[in-house]
Amino acid sequence: MTTSECPMCRAGSADEELERVEVWQDAHWRLTVSLSSEVAGFAYLEPKRHIRYITELDGPEAASFGPALARSTTALKDAAGAEVVYVYIFGDGVPHLHLHLAPHRPGDALSDQMIRGELVEEKLPNGMTRFASSDFPALPRDELIQIAERVRDGMSASAE
Ligand SMILES: [Zn+2]
Repeated sequence: MTTSECPMCRAGSADEELERVEVWQDAHWRLTVSLSSEVAGFAYLEPKRHIRYITELDGPEAASFGPALARSTTALKDAAGAEVVYVYIFGDGVPHLHLHLAPHRPGDALSDQMIRGELVEEKLPNGMTRFASSDFPALPRDELIQIAERVRDGMSASAE
């Protein structure tokens, strides 16, 4: 998808199509709030530049990402009277990076579940609760250790 074909690069008309209104922008980011949502204050934070995926975030957008995210989620939390703001990045829909920011209140429409299937609660010795899916059991520990090692290697290689 080229920039001219990308709906999110056509900011104004995309807002109309997606039923959202712009509430803030700076040199690199824009924040819009949905006008068609089950959740009050459901919002989108996206870079103005056509950056496809979070894995391609770089340059001034990477440098300003943290402050833009903190400022946006704080404003949403206060405006919606929510205790927390959920943040989702999927990436397999429209290939222009966008964060879904969802103020969450108890009993609202949002799922607090990251994995599919029936949840099983397990009390850990330290008092915390671990949630597992009865439909998708944990992968073998050896496999998880191997991926952790590959991530550690990747982080070391990219630190140069
Ligand atoms: Zn785009």
